[in-house]
Amino acid sequence: MKRWVVAACCAFSLLGGAAFSQEIKSLVRVKKLTSKQVTQLVQQGYDVAKEGKGFAEVVINKDEINDFVKKGHPVKVLIDDLDRYIQQIQAGQTKSDRYYTYDTATAQLKKWAKDYSHICRVESIGKSYEGRDIWALKVSDNPEKDEAEPAALIMGLHHAREWPSVEVPMATIKKLIEEYASNGEVKKLVDSREVWFVPIVNPDGLIYSQEKSRYWRKNRRANSGGTYGVDLNRNYGYKWGNVGASSSGYSDTYHGTGPFSEPEACAMRDLALREKFQASISFHTYSELILYPFGYGYNIPNPDQKIFVKMAGDMANFNDYRPQNSAELYPAMGDSDDFFYGDCKILSFTFELCSTFIPSASQIDNFCNQNVPAVIYLIDKAGTYGLVTPSGDEELINALDVDSGLNALEDVVSLFGNEADINVRNEVLTRVEKISLRVAELVNEDLKNGSTETWQKVKELPQASLALSFIRNRVMFNSAHGDFYRDDILEEVKNS
Ligand SMILES: [Zn+2]
Repeated sequence: MKRWVVAACCAFSLLGGAAFSQEIKSLVRVKKLTSKQVTQLVQQGYDVAKEGKGFAEVVINKDEINDFVKKGHPVKVLIDDLDRYIQQIQAGQTKSDRYYTYDTATAQLKKWAKDYSHICRVESIGKSYEGRDIWALKVSDNPEKDEAEPAALIMGLHHAREWPSVEVPMATIKKLIEEYASNGEVKKLVDSREVWFVPIVNPDGLIYSQEKSRYWRKNRRANSGGTYGVDLNRNYGYKWGNVGASSSGYSDTYHGTGPFSEPEACAMRDLALREKFQASISFHTYSELILYPFGYGYNIPNPDQKIFVKMAGDMANFNDYRPQNSAELYPAMGDSDDFFYGDCKILSFTFELCSTFIPSASQIDNFCNQNVPAVIYLIDKAGTYGLVTPSGDEELINALDVDSGLNALEDVVSLFGNEADINVRNEVLTRVEKISLRVAELVNEDLKNGSTETWQKVKELPQASLALSFIRNRVMFNSAHGDFYRDDILEEVKNS
């Protein structure tokens, strides 16, 4: 399938980017496609929004629709004029049901940072191409300090027209900070984690999408040749290249002139390198999917596949989305997940929210309620599964409290309990030992102070038998070397 329309666009571009962007585009379902043909579409730079068995949903213009039909692929028009459709969604917003804009989100983040300064702070992590601040909000106790706590990164809006992807990060912030004082679980999570939110990775794109060309996807870079925009989710530097990404500035999947050519992608990279996250979610729309790496090619071995599958499956229990490897959708080079996992060893996920780019604003509460619990799950597990990724250094283990330590033991043992591979088993044993020693240290402190509370907790955990023996040995050793324990406590530890 040759993209003859590219030639037409080239002529069109003489009129400048604005004229090009005013072209009417439709969201259509192209049928009778083999999966190879779908991959070819992506390869040719088509803006494929969703893929299914024998079909793809694609953003195209009228000429391109005719082109498909001529080639024997029936086309069902889902949204005839995307721009008008999204304008109607905007017009239908009410005072309470309303998508964030860059300005309202900025104001809200600053207000939260002011009203809840004991548990959050806002920071500009860089400027967009057009010079706007890219805001990050950190939620944690002692937000000014970089504590040795497990950290998670929650991102929205790499792609301009995917407005719901701003809402879920914002709704999660709201829950964490507004329930901190009243909800013990939330307080525990905030106190023991560092969570960074970047709800709008692509400020220029969002503004352009909300004010000018509503189905706009990329950032707003002025490319050479009169075209605009780089696809930020093709601009990351791990396996940056041409698979599922285009080298043409006209394309909606244009990957830019080089890896990290765009300031927005650089801001995310620098934040990740600085904060060393254990887990991340990047929100997009649409398809109701939970994706995990690698995405740059088919069947790329992922050493932590088991953890990804387990966590994606657990998160899917909250929102009923379909968990799958990202390349299963279609391979694409230069996306954020591949970089975060491949280079930073972050357990990185992409959520494709909703069943269309921008549902009616009356749906915002629904899709947030559906997805916020999955985000909370991830923030929690950043402290347990995060340990067993290659990023799980001892420093992180040393920061565990008793409950997180026990959760980590439970997660590691349940994940690998039935593992047949002897190498994996040995690796697990090493991790279990490290976590156990940390738990033992904490319990020992407690026992010395005359409390058996955490010791009882450990005893109740079926997976903690190894930890128990480590603790027993530690206590015996310490008591032989001068540490004082109450007699009844010493007896109990000795005999259990
Ligand atoms: Zn997207």
